[in-house]
Amino acid sequence: MHPGLAENLAAVESRIADACSRAGRRRGEVTLLAVTKVFPASAILAAYDLGLRQFGENYVQEFEAKAPLVRQLPGACFHLIGHLQSNKSRRAGELFDVVQTVDSSKLARRLDELAKPLDVLIEVKLSPEEAKHGCAPEDLPALIDAIRACPSLRLAGLMTMPPWSDDPEPSRPYFRRLRQLADRHNLPQLSMGMSHDLEVAIEEGSTIVRIGTALFGSRKGLL
Ligand SMILES: *Cc1c(COP(=O)(O)O)cnc(C)c1O
Repeated sequence: MHPGLAENLAAVESRIADACSRAGRRRGEVTLLAVTKVFPASAILAAYDLGLRQFGENYVQEFEAKAPLVRQLPGACFHLIGHLQSNKSRRAGELFDVVQTVDSSKLARRLDELAKPLDVLIEVKLSPEEAKHGCAPEDLPALIDAIRACPSLRLAGLMTMPPWSDDPEPSRPYFRRLRQLADRHNLPQLSMGMSHDLEVAIEEGSTIVRIGTALFGSRKGLL
């Protein structure tokens, strides 16, 4: 059992429920993705025992080591939420059910070559000066067309990561912009919101909140 996880999960659930009711949304519209990067496979197993089924990992190599312990869990779904280099795309496509960080047509074609049905999201870079990875908004239409032309890929939506700030409010314009882009292209899933800004994300239409620290505690000292 991961220390404090049950209490942390209850607290996160109540934050999500409060945000949904303030925003006039149903709880079922928002998926809680448990971000387990840096933590051992036992953290995934503990979260699974508490009913969580959607998990996010950042690094292909790190998840490769945990996968033998968790891949067989019935109903569990694993999302890659960290940047993916195309030379690791084959392994990523084998290990993950969802890749949230597609940001080039080259990467999309590499994933498509595996001929395994894969849900993907496009990572959008909304703050050019700070984000290292992601598709620029002006390149989005071409990338959407490229992914829609890949028979093995199903484009589910968009994800983004605003510049880091302690305060949740500065994230709002980024979340709003992502939603506008998703609406324009008829994409249902919006992966946005982390431990410190999930309420703002839900108010702005998030359908997937990616929560690490608020569930598993600080990663400091584990890195
Ligand atoms: C680490 C990470 C998260 C989780 O962040 P917390 O602040 O710990 O909730 C979410 N999304 C991405 C892309 C991450 O790398």
